[in-house]
Amino acid sequence: MPRAAVCHRFGEPFSLEDVSLSDPREGEVRVRLEACAICHSDVAYADGAWGGRVPTVLGHEACGLVAETGPGVASLRTGQRVVVSLIRHCGACGRCRAGEPALCTAAFGLDERSPIALAGGGRVEQGLRCGAFADEVVVHASQAVPVPPHLPAASLSVLGCAVLTGVGAAERAGAVRPGDTVVVIGSGGVGLNAIQGAVIAGAERVIAIDVADEKLAAARLFGATAAVNARTADPAAAVEAADVVIATAGSARAVEQGLALLRRGGTLVVVGMPASGEEARFDPTQLAHDGMRIVGTKMGTARPADDIPRLVALYEDGRLKLDELVTATYPLDRINEAADAMRRGEAIRNVIVF
Ligand SMILES: [Zn+2]
Ligand SMILES: [Zn+2]
Repeated sequence: MPRAAVCHRFGEPFSLEDVSLSDPREGEVRVRLEACAICHSDVAYADGAWGGRVPTVLGHEACGLVAETGPGVASLRTGQRVVVSLIRHCGACGRCRAGEPALCTAAFGLDERSPIALAGGGRVEQGLRCGAFADEVVVHASQAVPVPPHLPAASLSVLGCAVLTGVGAAERAGAVRPGDTVVVIGSGGVGLNAIQGAVIAGAERVIAIDVADEKLAAARLFGATAAVNARTADPAAAVEAADVVIATAGSARAVEQGLALLRRGGTLVVVGMPASGEEARFDPTQLAHDGMRIVGTKMGTARPADDIPRLVALYEDGRLKLDELVTATYPLDRINEAADAMRRGEAIRNVIVF
């Protein structure tokens, strides 16, 4: 029986227990995990920020080996190493054909029927469509993208969410161009990858804004050309009309602050998700008069099947940092300790290794 970290009630520690996992059905695969990073979304869900149902198994940034393929899976084979993401997509609907698989409109069996059950019976939600705080997951084949076998699993796991989202927010949603000035608000896992994405896209200046000096030091390591602590300095004084601002901090204030830093015709990318109910304000007259754009992006508008192999190649070329995103690794038994360190802002990514 696979072991899993089950969230029985929001705001309480995960409970480590045996669960049962149903066999992969049509179009699904079972993946034996090697590593799963803890993302801020996992912690926010576990703390009840966005509601949802319990019991649930969270975890959605993972890497592992395909253990079993269900009927009709031609794209993957047993033993193949894959990165698992929450982007479950059909490849055929309007959004998928437009290159936005994270917005796929198709319905999947797994949306209705979680594959996870408690050892004594009773369904467990498949949190964030993966349920990867567990030895094994059953996911749709579209959620598993092949990666090379020789690279470290903990480093590859972060590709599944933080890297896809951050790099995609810069490259795809923000359409950063060579020579641009880019501001990234929030230097957590997604923010650092938005910085890397802006650098890869050729931005000339990349300014990181955060309220923690150690995070700003990390931002410089990931390619920021300047760093502003918003607690002690006014970002508006430090930024001259940004072409693109990427708000990765999950707060409405970050969105309002970001708009104020844009040049005329600039783009504000909203990627961080505040707790349900938070609202940001903007001046519609200024937005129209100055031709500004506010763009929301889910998962960095990523196309995992194209993006993950490209990101792996950038990593192997030394142009994309992954190892540096992994603050520490923990066994599943110590997941509560690892999650608490994330809550305290002490880690970029703590990664569970199996
Ligand atoms: Zn995530
Ligand atoms: Zn689709």
